[in-house]
Amino acid sequence: MLGTHPQLVVLGTGFGAFNLVKYLKAAYDITVISPRNHFLFTPLLPSTTVGTIEFRSIIEPIRYARKNIRFYHAFAKDLLIAERKVVCTGAADGHEFYVEYDVLVIAVGAENNTFDWIKARLFGRDISQF
Ligand SMILES: Cc1cc2nc3c(=O)[nH]c(=O)nc-3n(C[C@H](O)[C@H](O)[C@H](O)COP(=O)(O)OP(=O)(O)OC[C@H]3O[C@@H](n4cnc5c(N)ncnc54)[C@H](O)[C@@H]3O)c2cc1C
Repeated sequence: MLGTHPQLVVLGTGFGAFNLVKYLKAAYDITVISPRNHFLFTPLLPSTTVGTIEFRSIIEPIRYARKNIRFYHAFAKDLLIAERKVVCTGAADGHEFYVEYDVLVIAVGAENNTFDWIKARLFGRDISQF
């Protein structure tokens, strides 16, 4: 049940976040914040781009990882460390809101390093998501 345990806020729904949410044994009220409501199995992404496999076959909704979690479809934009709050913007409408936490897990992945190669930034395509 939500509301009775310390608030664990997880940023992201990738490899790290999904596994934590799925396998965590300790008692927390879990809130997940991510612009994606699903885990994406990246190793099979190239196969979807050439049509070998369907997009829906390589994703898993975060709610399948665990029942009774709260999910915000949003980007974490900033942290107010002293107040233990995450500043979020809604992925759909850009609405700004705050989420309080007792424990915070940041699992937002990494950005590609293009080594200042300007053509990569201008013309490259990120295939780490759909
Ligand atoms: C095409 C491809 C193939 C790969 N193949 C392999 C492989 O075969 N073997 C292997 O070991 N590794 C592979 N990798 C690397 C692997 O995908 C990464 O190492 C792994 O995804 C990193 O996990 P993570 O949890 O740190 O981040 P990610 O899995 O990238 O997850 C980051 C999550 O954070 C969310 N997020 C981003 N910004 C915000 C924000 N501001 N607020 C909230 N949430 C946010 C994202 O939506 C995502 O859900 C591959 C990567 C790619 C792109």
